[in-house]
Order: sequence, then C-alpha cells, then structure tokens
Amino acid sequence: MKLKPTKIICVGLNYTDHAKELGMPIPSEPIIFMKGINALIFNNDSILYPPQTKNLHYEAELAIVIKDRCKNVPREEANKHIAGFTCANDVTARDLQEKDGQWTRAKSFDTFCPVGPQIVKGLDPNNLIIRCYLNGELKQSSNTTKMIFKVDEIVAFVSSIMTLEAEDIILTGTPPGVGPMKVGDVVEVEIEGIGTLRNKILNSKL
Ligand code: MG
Repeated sequence: MKLKPTKIICVGLNYTDHAKELGMPIPSEPIIFMKGINALIFNNDSILYPPQTKNLHYEAELAIVIKDRCKNVPREEANKHIAGFTCANDVTARDLQEKDGQWTRAKSFDTFCPVGPQIVKGLDPNNLIIRCYLNGELKQSSNTTKMIFKVDEIVAFVSSIMTLEAEDIILTGTPPGVGPMKVGDVVEVEIEGIGTLRNKILNSKL
C-alpha cells in the first residue's frame, strides 16, 4: 500500500473517555490539527524514537482516505468522497505536547504517522472494533460507535475549512488507554474489517 497525500489532518479528543484521561474538556466541535507529511510510513516500517522525547505514545485510530478533490462537502455526501478506510497510529511525544501547548512538534516527527495495511471500501465506519496491542498485550479496546464526531461529520467539517485532495488522510481520534512505547517494542493497531497495522520502534540515532 502506498499513498501520496497532500496533507494529514487529525481530529483530537474524539472519544469522551480519552478526553477525560488527558484531563481535557469534551469538545463541542471537532478539534483538528495536522501532522507533517514526512511522518507518513506504512505497515512494517519502523517508528523512530526521537532523542527529544522521553514519553512516546501510541494512539490507535481509524483513518479516512479521501477519494477526490472536494470542498464544502455536505454531511450526506461525505461518503462519495471517501476512497476507503485504514488503520493509523497517531504517534505522539506526550511530554512535548504538554510542554508546547500546541501539537505540531509532538505529532510531526518523521515516522509518526504509520497507516495500513490496506484501504478498505464499503465499511460502516461507525461500528468497528478498534484495538491497540503493545508487544502482543492489549492496551486499547473500543468501538468507533463511541466517536463524538462521526466520519461524515468530520469530512464535512474539515472540507468546510480546506480543500481536500485525492489520497489526503484524516485520522479520527483515539479511544482511551494511550500509553508509552520504548525502543524495541512492536505496536499493532487492529480494526475490524481492515486488518492489523504493525510497526516496530527503533532508536532514531541508529
Ligand atoms: Mg490522536
């Protein structure tokens, strides 16, 4: 699987229980941010642990892949502009996220956006089991029914702000249970009907 998006957009705090675990308020409209395009990697690629962080976290997320250029998409037409869905890991330097007050650095190191293993069409994105495993141990387990803002609402919202292009990626937020990874760990994001995205953590200095 390869993708050449022009941008990677992410929704933050889209599961009530995750907002609570971070001590953040429940948003009344989607909170969006972006990840640098060089963060993008794919299944079985390595996540590089940067020396600037001491607290690197996994975040299992459902990702939307956009089908064609679109702007101001009404919610009821969102589906027409979606190429499919895949698994994503919104890798986050949690200490830098807290320190900076905005999230560009914490979210945008190279390799911080694994996606894959495939793009699947025709799924109901609002009822999928989503899980994260670290070294085979279950760390996150939820269902996309628990998303505050649904996929069609997210496409409508983001496209009301910026034109979306074919292969652009939108991450839809993570359920509770986020936590740290260390060099040598293997992290897996598994979504019902899509498969398992697997990445190993390597030291960026090697
Ligand atoms: Mg996230």
